[in-house]
Amino acid sequence: MNTIDEKLRPILADVIRRNAGEPEFHQAVHEVLESLGRVVAKHPDYLDQALIERICEPERQIIFRVPWVDDRGQVQINRGFRVQFNSALGPYKGGMRFHPSVNVGIIKFLGFEQTFKNALTGMPIGGGKGGSDFDPKGRSDAEIMRFCQSLMTELHRHLGEQTDVPAGDIGVGGREIGYMFGQYKRLNNRFEAGVFTGKALAYGGSRARTEATGYGNTYFVQAMLQTKGTDFEGKKVVVSGSGNVAIYTIEKVQSFGGTVIACSDSSGYVVDEAGIDLELLKDIKNVRRERISEYARRRGPGAHFIAAGDGSIWDTPCDVAMPSATQNELSGKDAASLIGNGVIAVGEGANMPSTPEAIKAFQDAGVMFAPGKAANAGGVATSALEMQQNASRDSWSFEQTEARLASIMRGIHDTCHQTAEEYGAPGDYVLGANIAGFVRVAESMRMLGVI
Ligand code: GLU
Repeated sequence: MNTIDEKLRPILADVIRRNAGEPEFHQAVHEVLESLGRVVAKHPDYLDQALIERICEPERQIIFRVPWVDDRGQVQINRGFRVQFNSALGPYKGGMRFHPSVNVGIIKFLGFEQTFKNALTGMPIGGGKGGSDFDPKGRSDAEIMRFCQSLMTELHRHLGEQTDVPAGDIGVGGREIGYMFGQYKRLNNRFEAGVFTGKALAYGGSRARTEATGYGNTYFVQAMLQTKGTDFEGKKVVVSGSGNVAIYTIEKVQSFGGTVIACSDSSGYVVDEAGIDLELLKDIKNVRRERISEYARRRGPGAHFIAAGDGSIWDTPCDVAMPSATQNELSGKDAASLIGNGVIAVGEGANMPSTPEAIKAFQDAGVMFAPGKAANAGGVATSALEMQQNASRDSWSFEQTEARLASIMRGIHDTCHQTAEEYGAPGDYVLGANIAGFVRVAESMRMLGVI
């Protein structure tokens, strides 16, 4: 890890003390504080006003019981969370994650990252995140619905289109958003379309929202490659994951002339040197909801499956790596392997997928590195476009929405690039993203008084 300016070290110590047992949250704060030394040197008043301390403390944390009845008639209990991190720029905005690994520390790290990510989009959205330790794997549609309804029976009172606007994340897609929004609508007796994003088109969703995170990451990496006079054309690309983010990253990379040769799920990964067959992947993952090994089986010779534990997807030689599965999925060892195989750029589709050791290895080796809070901001940016459409009772075309997304991603890229230069670290997108996101939130908080 890089070092933290001595004036900022007590802030990290305090965060660790007050949030014991939450390593992912400490990691996310650590990474931002590493970048802020140059900011407080320029703006010492940020320290006097305890702006950094305030930004590291969520405005509100809600933890609640989610009881529900499974298909066998048995009562199940999960824990629900919503961390309303920062509303200096607008209503809390951020997804819901359903995964057994979810705990308050994970939601806090995601909410913290979301605050800066949302600030980078330049749109009027604050930061929040929520979820549950519920495991949707193997659950029937009826069980998913009962779970979502129970969760919303508590959560609805904390939401509102001007207050807190959830969306999807791991384990939460269009189906779950539909069930949650349906229950919200029933309990409030209000069709408040802007209270959720990632809705289906039929009842107020936005075109291109499903594609947005993956497309956005690809636009960002394309802009980053262009600063070095190159692009995706003819490049070999590895995309981890096979959810929404990964699938639409693959689609956009292919349209830019790159070849995606590997993708994964929690059971393992597939390598297909001829290029991933996207229709087959979509059928397996979105329609049949099967494991990734099915891909190799149905694709036939040429594609092979490697079980998790037997190898790492990051051992696959490639020019561009786009980790799009989950936090800390790419270790220092994986980074060394990618660097050894000649990787030139990394774009994070997931939230914090690279460990601090991996980030440092990439930066030391001169690999272009796009951090998730900048590169994967296309999803939430398009959520903000969905809120705009809802507020004006309008519905835009796919082309119009994607054009907005592309220009927002270009804007985020340029902001990070310019900020890194301005603060004396050209090409350091981590520093650029952290500083630009932080300064926007801090400036608003300053104007709003001690809140
Ligand atoms: N879960 C996504 C993210 O990490 C999207 C959040 C949203 O659209 O509110 O940014």
